[in-house]
Amino acid sequence: MNLVPTRVQLNRPLPPLTYLAPEGLPAGVRVRVKVRNSLSFGLAMGADPAPPAAKLRPIEAVLDPFPLLPPKLRELQSFAARYYGCLEAHLLPLSLPQALLPHWEADEDGQRLSFHRERGAWDVLADLGEAWHRDPSILPTLLHRSALRGSGFTEVRLTGQPHPPRVTPAQAKILLALEEAGGALMEPELLESAGVGASVLGTLEKRGLVARMKRVDLLAQRREAGTDRTVTLNAEQQTALDAVPLGHFGVHLLQGVTGSGKTEVYLALAERALAEGRRVLWLVPEIGLTSRLLDRLEARFPGRVAVGHAGLNAGEKHGDVVRLLFNGADIFVGVRNAVLAPLRDIGLIIVDEEHEGSYKSEEHPRIHARDLAIKRAQLEGCSIVLGSATPSLESWQAAQSGRYHLLQLKQRPAGITLPKVEIVDLRETYRKMRRKVIIAPPLMQALAETLARGEQALLLLNRRGYENFWMCRACGKTLGCPHCAISLTYHRGDFRLRCHLCGHETVPPEACPDCGADHLRGVGEGTEQVEEHLNQLFPGARILRLDRDTTRRRGSLEAGLLATEAGHVDILVGTQMLAKGHTFPGLTLVGVLNADQGLKVADFRASERTFQLLTQVAGRAGRAELPGRVILQTYSPEHPAITFALAQDFEGFAASELPFREGLGYPPFTALSLYRAEADTLREAREALEAFRQRLSVPGLRVLGPLEAPVPRIKDRWRMHLLLKGSRGVLGEVLARQPLDPAGAISLDRDPIQFG
Ligand code: ADP
Ligand code: ZN
Repeated sequence: MNLVPTRVQLNRPLPPLTYLAPEGLPAGVRVRVKVRNSLSFGLAMGADPAPPAAKLRPIEAVLDPFPLLPPKLRELQSFAARYYGCLEAHLLPLSLPQALLPHWEADEDGQRLSFHRERGAWDVLADLGEAWHRDPSILPTLLHRSALRGSGFTEVRLTGQPHPPRVTPAQAKILLALEEAGGALMEPELLESAGVGASVLGTLEKRGLVARMKRVDLLAQRREAGTDRTVTLNAEQQTALDAVPLGHFGVHLLQGVTGSGKTEVYLALAERALAEGRRVLWLVPEIGLTSRLLDRLEARFPGRVAVGHAGLNAGEKHGDVVRLLFNGADIFVGVRNAVLAPLRDIGLIIVDEEHEGSYKSEEHPRIHARDLAIKRAQLEGCSIVLGSATPSLESWQAAQSGRYHLLQLKQRPAGITLPKVEIVDLRETYRKMRRKVIIAPPLMQALAETLARGEQALLLLNRRGYENFWMCRACGKTLGCPHCAISLTYHRGDFRLRCHLCGHETVPPEACPDCGADHLRGVGEGTEQVEEHLNQLFPGARILRLDRDTTRRRGSLEAGLLATEAGHVDILVGTQMLAKGHTFPGLTLVGVLNADQGLKVADFRASERTFQLLTQVAGRAGRAELPGRVILQTYSPEHPAITFALAQDFEGFAASELPFREGLGYPPFTALSLYRAEADTLREAREALEAFRQRLSVPGLRVLGPLEAPVPRIKDRWRMHLLLKGSRGVLGEVLARQPLDPAGAISLDRDPIQFG
């Protein structure tokens, strides 16, 4: 086999390296290489036309016989790598679990894949790969792996070892049954057709005549089918349905308040796509909130739905991906990374709650799943539907300008009314009561009435812990994290002061570490305190707190939501995770304790986020037969984010907010690239960005900074920002001309949504 210099990308912060690899090795296959002295996964990128002069090392192994991912997905990855300034190898694990390795002993017309490898016949393998992509059944055992654990069937295969002169009659029955079945059978089936016990298999296995392999259970993730309540679409829904053609690319923004029937439109569209023999990619912001949706999907499309999300264990994840590679599911529902799932022949993409920030990755590679979904739809030539009650202003502006097609659902189906929203002015409460209160009298009264009627209430406070921070009243010192530039939050349940950025924790001191006075005092209540307060106020009520502290365990958020839905909870208190997607038939009161909390952060989207949060949480009240009531406590009742939320008027809000964005040159009117530098000292971080700034010379670019990041230190690393504003084209050109060193101090966040 002829070895030639070949470029290999590693899934590490390193530039591509050159190794010796078999000539003709196609780009896109995974290889194993040695870096320094450890083994690493890499992605072959084709022959290196200008290899370095140094002596090159050979690769250790070729892992895939051909690129496993469908060609369009590889195109999407290559686009994403260029757009977000990362390597394709960094995106690969989002599509394909690293531990999922093909089986080189798999047969194709009696020829093992390894046979072609030994001959260096990469072109034969590449052709085979093309054929496999069209019909995975030509290599059915490619991804069967004995190493895969978890639920599954055991498959028994002949090893091909020469038969010994003599076997027992029971063993002969097994061998014959396997021969007849073409060499492999599922264990239960085999035992039944041979009419022998499992112990015989064990003996044959020991003698090396058969091998048992765990085959991923393609059906393990099937959900219980719920009951399908087919509805007749109303006129608005029907109009929306008819407006989305399936055969070619187009972006559709479906705007409609919670409960207006968006999901019914998605379901009807999915039905059409499936009827045309194509597949549906369905993105949701958070899987824990979608159990209702999954039931509805399973009821409508039994056995055809697969689900992928971070909460799955390794075996389940493999099952998931294998199922997609095998074309074993027609609808794939998943969170952010699912946008890169190896689903083929996509005929429709749905992005539900498209405004949600969870679609944006806050770690490298910092992809935005909604934006990549649009690119994917373009590559696949299909329609994409972005749905929300409160679309992002980016999508809304695109719809206003005609780039996206706007579809609206203005009415809720009969029998469901919008809740009544009221405001409590906390400034007035303070004047009257002469002290700060967490729950003002009008909300308190509403709570008592709701409980008396046997209905449920939800209280939202977007801050977890007991108290936001501790301050010394004598000297003014606040207790901060030693590793980060933020204060520690008091958690009373486990008596700790804890950093919400790095997790550092400490037992609260008795006296101020600076001045020694015992005047330390907590400031700013959190959900833990509200829960305690409610327990004192309503001793008989069943109170459940849901925030990041109480939902760490997998499935606990879902369990809490289901308990609430089943009526086992009277008051639900928690953070913004409660505002999303879930509905409770018995919930009639929603209280937001500090509606303007989110307005104080220095972020041009603060207003938009607050409006979205308030509107979404208001939508939780009174969805079924009972009328709902929403009470917003606020210190700034005149703020547009609050007044438009009060009127539940999305279009009004957008019309008032967009001119500000335009005036200040923020998205959706310009695009942003945030370059972050992290270093051991602030000076190093600043110098890295200043040097970078010197090199920028692209016309049409506005540069802000370098400036200290809003949180200038996290985990002992100092952080500076450089913000670039310009068109997407200009920002793309900056990246093309000034590519970042993956091992350098500067990282890029394109289209950033978090500026911390
Ligand atoms: P959204 O996704 O906008 O929140 P859904 O599609 O979940 O709204 O609809 C809310 C509720 O109204 C669901 O229970 C749904 O079955 C019901 N619904 C939606 N459209 C109709 C319709 N045309 N006729 C009757 N019920 C409907
Ligand atoms: Zn910290």
